Amino acid sequence: MRRFFASRIEDGLAYFPPEELAHLKKVLRMRPGDKVIVPEGRLEWVCELVENDGELYGRLLEQRGCDAEPKKRITLYLAYTKSDKLELCVQKAVELGVSKVCPFISSRCVKVPDAASAKKANDRMTRIAHEAVKQCGRSQDIEVSLPLSFEDLLIDIKNNDITVFAYEKSVAPLKKAFLAAGAMSIGLIIGPEGGFSDEEADAVIDAGGVSASLGTRILRAETAAIALMSIASYETGN
Ligand code: SAH
Repeated sequence: MRRFFASRIEDGLAYFPPEELAHLKKVLRMRPGDKVIVPEGRLEWVCELVENDGELYGRLLEQRGCDAEPKKRITLYLAYTKSDKLELCVQKAVELGVSKVCPFISSRCVKVPDAASAKKANDRMTRIAHEAVKQCGRSQDIEVSLPLSFEDLLIDIKNNDITVFAYEKSVAPLKKAFLAAGAMSIGLIIGPEGGFSDEEADAVIDAGGVSASLGTRILRAETAAIALMSIASYETGN
């Protein structure tokens, strides 16, 4: 069954926003009696489409858990790179069970956006994330934050039970980094094309980041992000 997000759910009915109605009616030509899934938080409703004064609504039939939702909260901290790479990583982050993506600015970022372009990029990434949530069957949108300064990154990672710092100069085995038993909130840090300066790497480790190697080859930032998210998803059963 196809999934549609409701703008509100009340009195046994799911009300769809215009863009969802257009998709339902014009693109998919769905009709009253058809069944759809409507996510609500970490749960989802099986609904039957009903018509009232020419408009389609979802009549709630049965509520159930959404097993596509991740059990642990993974935050991906991604150094600001070219837009298409950021967008690819956001899309894959959703599919791989990440709950939040925080772009950040560091000394070797080749692209440092001004406020206007950062907001525009954030709007685009938020839209891409929403489409990926629908495509992969998750029920909750993920958050894509505006770019963090490097100082804010060091503060934010303290909110995690563990933060795995993918550092190109590290030789520490990755497996060990995920061993923190019972971690429910996990941070993953990926640097820019230019990598991290020694001072930045020291600062991340001082702030609690556990540096780890992703192997003997130097991966592109987007490859490293997708590899690390996949490993995190596997290691945490997310
Ligand atoms: N220009 C740098 C590499 C940067 S790669 C150099 O030549 O050394 C971009 C980011 O991907 C890195 O900052 C790191 O976070 C991650 N990365 C790439 N390869 C890695 C590896 N083998 N081990 C750990 N992290 C890696």
